[in-house]
Amino acid sequence: MSNHQENPLVKHFRQPAIYIKLPSQGKYWPEGDLEIPANGELPIYPMTTRDEITLKTPDALLNGAGVVAVIESCCPNIKNAWHSPSIDLDAILIGIRIASYGHEMSTETACPKCSESNNYDIDLRTALDSVKSPDYSDPLTIEDLRIHIKPQNFQTSNRASMLNFEEQKILQAINNENISDEQKAITVTAQLHKVIDITSEILSESTDRIEMADGTLVKNKDHIREYYQNAKSSVTRALQKRLEDLAEQAALTPYSVACSSCDHKFSMAVDFNYSSFFAVGS
Ligand SMILES: [Zn+2]
Repeated sequence: MSNHQENPLVKHFRQPAIYIKLPSQGKYWPEGDLEIPANGELPIYPMTTRDEITLKTPDALLNGAGVVAVIESCCPNIKNAWHSPSIDLDAILIGIRIASYGHEMSTETACPKCSESNNYDIDLRTALDSVKSPDYSDPLTIEDLRIHIKPQNFQTSNRASMLNFEEQKILQAINNENISDEQKAITVTAQLHKVIDITSEILSESTDRIEMADGTLVKNKDHIREYYQNAKSSVTRALQKRLEDLAEQAALTPYSVACSSCDHKFSMAVDFNYSSFFAVGS
């Protein structure tokens, strides 16, 4: 019976600490994965102890599950954080950081001129204001195809960051003196296939549709992926180049700082490594 009684402590539960606008304004989110309030501003709650522990679990961080769990806990309007378009991720994470620990963040960086280590208190609200969506409206024209690009989601970008680990494994296998050449070749081939698979997944996940000269619109993910697997390498290079340019447009504006030792002025990018970004009080 008492189970159904309302907890008198409920008004002391965490409350939204800030409200943020998403750079995508809800575009690129699959139906049902995001509930946008009428005023377009998403409430962000501070992290709970459980969230903090989740972010300190190395495996959960590496495979992305930790970040997803924390986003869904702190932004209840987000129903499936795996599908967050990459362009919204920075704003969401900065929002959670501000809601949990306030808008000031202490950052240590070495002066590029005299290598003196400096500590700066940066205002994360400046970073939040500078988050912007690149312009995806201009299609990439390759021969007589028009490739319409969209931002990849967290699931894909997380797999992309795991590419580095796969590439490291290849190098480790090559340099390992304790395994036979034959075993080395098998390992390297298997890892290379993984790298190729992830690369073609990134390209097809970044493609909204391909428009053909006769007006045919190709939206089928499998068809698009098959095209990239069978296109000449200059096609994938051109698309990769465009994706890099768009990522550059989306990059956070660096902070202008001066060295306390030699007065050299330089720009400092916000370190967006999740583990260090959320490492407070540890
Ligand atoms: Zn200096």
